[in-house]
Amino acid sequence: MREIVVTVSHMRLLAVYAVLLIGVFGAPSSLANPHNFDTWLANFRLDALRSGISEETLRSALDGVKPRPKVVRKDRSQAEFTQSYWRYMERVNKRRIDKGKELLIKYSPLLKRVQARYGVQPRFLIAFWGLESNYGSTFGGHPVIPSLATLAYDNRRAKFFRVQLLAALKILDRGDITLDRMIGSWAGAMGHVQFIPSTYESYAVDFDGDGRRDIWHSMADVFASAANYLSSLGWNDKETWGREVRLPADFDFSQASLSVRKPLYDWQQAGVRRITGGKLPNVNFKTSLLIPAGHRGPAFAVYGNFRRIMRWNRSILYAISVGHLSDRFIGLGPISVRRPANDKRVSVYMVKEIQARLNQRGFKAGKPDGVIGKGSRAAIRAFQKMKNVPADGYVTADLLELLRKE
Ligand code: CA
Repeated sequence: MREIVVTVSHMRLLAVYAVLLIGVFGAPSSLANPHNFDTWLANFRLDALRSGISEETLRSALDGVKPRPKVVRKDRSQAEFTQSYWRYMERVNKRRIDKGKELLIKYSPLLKRVQARYGVQPRFLIAFWGLESNYGSTFGGHPVIPSLATLAYDNRRAKFFRVQLLAALKILDRGDITLDRMIGSWAGAMGHVQFIPSTYESYAVDFDGDGRRDIWHSMADVFASAANYLSSLGWNDKETWGREVRLPADFDFSQASLSVRKPLYDWQQAGVRRITGGKLPNVNFKTSLLIPAGHRGPAFAVYGNFRRIMRWNRSILYAISVGHLSDRFIGLGPISVRRPANDKRVSVYMVKEIQARLNQRGFKAGKPDGVIGKGSRAAIRAFQKMKNVPADGYVTADLLELLRKE
């Protein structure tokens, strides 16, 4: 089970990287595999048969399958800009909040039964649903089998997608869903809560009791499957995800990291307060602080459930958006710290230049790859300390200007 969870996280991580961080050089659009697709597929089919999938399912699912150029393009597409907290959080907008509030009421009896069984608060299930498929309005539109076959054939992440393709065929073989209704994202995330096939295999449940686990059409199955997955990750419905907080003026920003965890009352001792200025709850929740937009943006105290959201999707911004959206459903207000008026987007080229300039000055930022990891962040902090500016380790256009002036 653990292995599967790691694989899911890994896949999400790769997906996040693919979207956020990679350079912008023209990537090859052709698939990398020494065999031609049909030969590969024939070999794969033998393996699938050996693993117990029926001849009939393989025939209907794989006959005539061709690689999908659209999927290859998606897989090879590379972001020009780094992911920004401010832009990311635009998805927690009025439409999504209002719609979610409505649905929370509409599905309240069902959600209560799901909570009683799996221990996940309804508002979080609605938030995942809203962010994964915009409440079921988009499943991604890609036929899952050909998309996964394309990615399993491609050498880049063949091993991972081969596992997903086999899992998808098992789902068909069991009769949970028909081939024509098995729709998902280009990378095979399926249905209302965008489960990849291996997650589905381990965690999807038949909550309406019709004998099929249907995360495309049965809201009972959808909510129970999501809740079952979260519950298996250790979700605690006595706790929330976190909260926006106010940091003391002399705060050491190197403490704002998922790798630093302290009881909430220790942070209170260190001068951290509720965003309103009041004292933090006097509890021992293991808490980390995060400043996803640097020192000019909001600060968050995040608890155990936040880490469980990150097991679902290894993105801090995703986890904040799930938590914040769920807060809005129960009437909590918007995040207090607003976007600075002169906030500029940071391109991957700018990040590379920042890394190169830090290296030139002896701050070891690592290979200038446009990806801010631990090393780059530490190098930025060291440079910021030297320049006597807030050492938040955060990449901005101003930071680059400062480096260019050196
Ligand atoms: Ca069912």
